Parts: sequence; C-alpha cells; structure tokens
Amino acid sequence: MKPFTYQRALSVDTAVAESSERCRLLAGGIDLLGELKEGLVEADKVVAVTRIPGLDTIEKKSAGWTIGANVTVATIAAHADLARAFPGLAAAARDVASPQIRHVSTVAGNLLQHSRCWYYRHRDVTCMKKGGDVCYAREGEHKYHALFTGGYCISPLVSSLAVALTVLDASVVVRGRGGERRLTMAELYAPAWDDHAVHHAIVPGEMLTAIEIPLAARRSAFVQASEKASFDWALVSCAVSLELEGGVVRQARIALGAVSPVPYRDERAEKALVGTRLDETTADAAAALLLEKAEPLPHNAYKVPIARALIKRALLAAATPG
Ligand SMILES: Cc1cc2nc3c(=O)[nH]c(=O)nc-3n(C[C@H](O)[C@H](O)[C@H](O)COP(=O)(O)OP(=O)(O)OC[C@H]3O[C@@H](n4cnc5c(N)ncnc54)[C@H](O)[C@@H]3O)c2cc1C
Ligand code: SF4
Repeated sequence: MKPFTYQRALSVDTAVAESSERCRLLAGGIDLLGELKEGLVEADKVVAVTRIPGLDTIEKKSAGWTIGANVTVATIAAHADLARAFPGLAAAARDVASPQIRHVSTVAGNLLQHSRCWYYRHRDVTCMKKGGDVCYAREGEHKYHALFTGGYCISPLVSSLAVALTVLDASVVVRGRGGERRLTMAELYAPAWDDHAVHHAIVPGEMLTAIEIPLAARRSAFVQASEKASFDWALVSCAVSLELEGGVVRQARIALGAVSPVPYRDERAEKALVGTRLDETTADAAAALLLEKAEPLPHNAYKVPIARALIKRALLAAATPG
C-alpha cells in the first residue's frame, strides 16, 4: 500500500474542505481499504468520517425518515420501527455480507462501494473502468455481470441497500463546497449507466451526509439469490414497493440489483400492475416486461430465470398482509 496521511474529520465542513481528487473519505473501510491495498485507487490523504457527530442516527420526522450517513448496516437491520415502516429495507440490510461486516459498514459506504468485477479488482489488470481500453469481462468471465447496460462496462451495482431504497423513492443528501444537493437514487447512479469510468454521481469534494425516505402508505419486500448463505453479494436481488387500495395496486415500484450498473427499473412493468390485483399471472406479466430488454451473455444467462422468480416472489410477498 502506498503511504498516505490520515486525518479524522469532526465536522462535515472539514471533511468536505479536505476532500479532493487525491483524498478519500473513509467510513467502515470494508471497500476502501481493499482498494488502497490493491492500488486500485490512490490517495495522498485519507479522511475518516465516522466520528462526525450527528450522522449516526435514524430519525422519523413529519416529512419522512432520515438515516445518517454513518448509520451501520447492522443498525438498519435491527431497527424495529424502521423495519415496520420499510420491511424491504430491513430485509436487504439483514442479507448484506456477514454480521461482522454489517457492524462496520455504513449506509453511505454501502451505497458508494465500487465495482466487484474481478478484472477491476485485479491489481495487474487495467480494464476500461481503470482507464484502459478493453472490457475483459465481455469476452472473458462474466458469470456475475450485468444483463442491462447503457455502455460497454457490464459490472453491476452490488449495493443491496441501493435497490431497497430505490423502490421507497429515497434521496441522498450530498454536501459539497458550493452547498447541499439532493439526488434521487436514480440520479445517484445514472452516470454509471453509460459511463464506464464511474461508479456513481458523487465526485471528489462531496460527502454524502444522509438518506431521506418519504412517508407513504407502502408495503415493501426485498429478496435475493446468492451462491452462499452469508458473506456474499447477491447474484440477483429484487426490491418491490406497493400502494394498495382494497387489494388493488395504486402504485408499484420494482427494482433489480446485481444485473445493471444502476438499480434496474422499467416503468412499463410497474404501470402494468396499476389497477390489478396481484396474483401469479399479473406478477409473471410484470416480470416478463421488466426482463424484456435483458441482454444476457453466455455465462450470465442463468440470471434471467432467477430474476423472474425473484420479481414474482417479491411482488407476492409485498402484496400479502404481514
Ligand atoms: C464478503 C463481503 C460481502 C458483501 N456482501 C454485500 C451484500 O450482499 N450487499 C451489499 O450491499 N454489500 C455487501 N458488501 C459490502 C459491504 O456491505 C460494505 O457496505 C461496503 O463494502 C462499504 O461500506 P463501508 O462503510 O466499509 O465503506 P468504505 O469502504 O469506508 O467506503 C466505500 C466507498 O464510499 C466512500 N464513502 C464512504 N462514506 C462516504 C460519505 N459519507 N460520503 C462520500 N463518500 C463516502 C469511500 O471513499 C469509498 O469509496 C459485502 C462486503 C464484503 C467484504
Ligand atoms: S465489466 Fe467493467 S469493470 Fe469489469 S472488465 Fe469490463 S470495464 Fe472493467
């Protein structure tokens, strides 16, 4: 690992002032320390942000819930009121990695974790995402890669919380030197859809400070399929939220994870559910629409039937009174 200076920020202002192209913000360190050790990112300075006061709380206000950037994944998994309001988010948090990792990982670090593509993670490989001109996964090993992309990189977004928060219409609050901005989850990941060089929309000089979830009478669910029961990312995940009136769908959101550089949605699938009662047939039709534009490669086509099953399972779970 190349040497860098280490600083602990005690305010968002300090973290933002220190943050630059050659500086990295450090939360739980699960992702960043691995990247620094492998030389995937270089930094002259690392600024730890987890001791900044006020960023480790979960609050319910009149407009909605606010989750501080430094709240751990374990805290989200164990928060009873949050789980009652957003069972899909709690389920996604419970499925992350392992208990040890959940206790260290923060929600901000989880949302902003980088690609897990094995070519990207290899210190000796310079693929397109690291400034090279080849995507080795396309012609090589792409078992864990995307079914949908707007560009050439097929490395999927692997944050489970991103998928669960997307269907809740959540936003992230981002502080930069010029002030504060709010991004929807779609906006947070939009640049990664067709720009192979980026992972998300946060740039050096910015810090994610909170996640906001609006209040709404929604049911939600999250399901994932993984190779291992613990200590693993999802092969495919699916989050759903539903607004129901007398058993009839008034609004639906469906997002897939680990199949695209963004939480993958298709409004056609969501609109097709409006005005219907959810059952095997309507859920299957929505799944077919959501997967219609999938472009599987030789080694990842198995993800399509898994995604279809997860979409149906998540929709039926969210529609069933708990
Ligand atoms: C074996 C294993 C299995 C895993 N399985 C899953 C899984 O199934 N689902 C899942 O979602 N995750 C999974 N993870 C990821 C893990 O949950 C962590 O959330 C994630 O790696 C990073 O969290 P962190 O707090 O340690 O962030 P860090 O490593 O500290 O930071 C991650 C990135 O975010 C940036 N950053 C951190 N905080 C801020 C901030 N406030 N503002 C701006 N930038 C910031 C850092 O600079 C860095 O680039 C897994 C990890 C491992 C090792
Ligand atoms: S999928 Fe993306 S990260 Fe992986 S080799 Fe291709 S360009 Fe690199």
